[in-house]
Amino acid sequence: MAKGIWVFAEQRDAKIKKVTYELLSAGRGLADQLGEELCAVLLGKDVAGLAAALGEYGADKVYVVDNEKLAEYTCDAYVNVVADLAKANEPTAVFFGYTAVGRDLGASLAQRLATGMVSDAVSVKVDGGQLVFDRPLYAGKAFVTASCAEARPVIAAMRPNVLAINEPAAGKQAEVVNADANTGDIRQKIKEVAMAISSRPELTEANIIVSGGRGVKNAESMKLIEELADAIGAAVGCSRAVVDAGWYPQSQQVGQTGKTVSPNLYIACGISGAIQHLAGMSSSKCIVAINKDEDANIFKVADYGIVGDLFQVVPILKEELKKL
Ligand code: FAD
Repeated sequence: MAKGIWVFAEQRDAKIKKVTYELLSAGRGLADQLGEELCAVLLGKDVAGLAAALGEYGADKVYVVDNEKLAEYTCDAYVNVVADLAKANEPTAVFFGYTAVGRDLGASLAQRLATGMVSDAVSVKVDGGQLVFDRPLYAGKAFVTASCAEARPVIAAMRPNVLAINEPAAGKQAEVVNADANTGDIRQKIKEVAMAISSRPELTEANIIVSGGRGVKNAESMKLIEELADAIGAAVGCSRAVVDAGWYPQSQQVGQTGKTVSPNLYIACGISGAIQHLAGMSSSKCIVAINKDEDANIFKVADYGIVGDLFQVVPILKEELKKL
């Protein structure tokens, strides 16, 4: 009998990605409703120590595959290991974050297990014993409801920064199962890992984001946004207009064709609030907008709005926030 809601515990450099905790929190509720166990699947090298945190965030069981060949992510090795585990244990569902790794691995696993995959889902519930997902279309203007009536396991990649994270239960331990790794033939070779080093928080994991839009006028003025961000320990984001103009890297773009973020505080400076930008940040807990046009669309989603010139407002805000 198929059993278990599985969460692929994505980690990098032995640090668990936030989306893993989001998936465990959602998975806990689903597992309880279906009367199944919640399992995390943790692959990597020297990662066994991470199992404790997965237990505290809700996992009943953690499958740990700790192996030299899993030190760097390769689809070949990871899919072989996860597919073997799934064939042996027949989970009901396997959840991934809709990240670069989750998209790649989830789709490969679906192909390997001859099942389907729901991609970029933003919610999941149990309805009539089935897992039912919502996924946005047209930058969130419409939603598709998807379910997999027969295929098992159901494979789903959930959009990061959308699902709420439950408070961890300190000291709650998961059963740890050390599983064998049959990585198989690894055809992919990692030659080089290019990483942008920044002292600022990663955009999708940040608690506070300060974002600049076309209103900053030029690349030089993005420094104003960076200074405000640095004063409050925030990540720097931007709109696509800023990226298209070559003022800031695409890696920092928020929106439909950029990153989806959900920080506690999002400060939008000189951003009009186009639907494609809102698609990536409207679930932020508190939105502050600075715009000189009082009719700007961004004010419709903002909790606090400042109508004014960002070149005057941002420096004042920075100095005042520094005092706190
Ligand atoms: P604008 O719309 O030009 O707004 C600039 C704002 O700055 C204005 O509201 C203006 O009043 C204000 N301003 C000007 N000067 C000042 C000042 N001195 N002080 C204060 N305020 C000032 N966009 C994204 O952001 N992310 C995406 O992922 C994305 N994906 C897209 C995908 C598709 C398929 C398409 C078609 C578009 C996409 N876009 C995306 C583009 C989107 O439609 C908008 O063009 C873009 O978001 C506009 O960026 P902006 O708000 O910075 O610029």
